[in-house]
Amino acid sequence: MRDKPATPAATLSRARDVARANGVRYVYTGNVHDRAGGSTWCHGCGALLIGRDWFDLTRWRLDEDGCCMDCGTPLPGVFELRPGSWGRQRQPVRFAAVVVIPIGAVRPSWSPHRPPSELADT
Ligand SMILES: [Zn+2]
Repeated sequence: MRDKPATPAATLSRARDVARANGVRYVYTGNVHDRAGGSTWCHGCGALLIGRDWFDLTRWRLDEDGCCMDCGTPLPGVFELRPGSWGRQRQPVRFAAVVVIPIGAVRPSWSPHRPPSELADT
């Protein structure tokens, strides 16, 4: 599929709109930056219930029963009382800690597959 161009974000948004217009209540766009398309909206009053911006939660408007705080319409699903601490989970990578061994440069005595006890004899 690398020979195919990525689906334009506008096409994904249009597909979401078509789904919603045909009764699909909870449909999302993914792998594109689309705050509206990635968020959850109340099907009763249209309020923003769970706002998302990539992995960040920007809004949480559910009561303790998982219902819209504006109109009381239940949101299908199981929810915590509070949104928790989501957010981006990126971890730093230290490239200096990575050792690159060129192909062919590994002699049998250096093999990482040999146990350390055998390496001591070489
Ligand atoms: Zn509502």
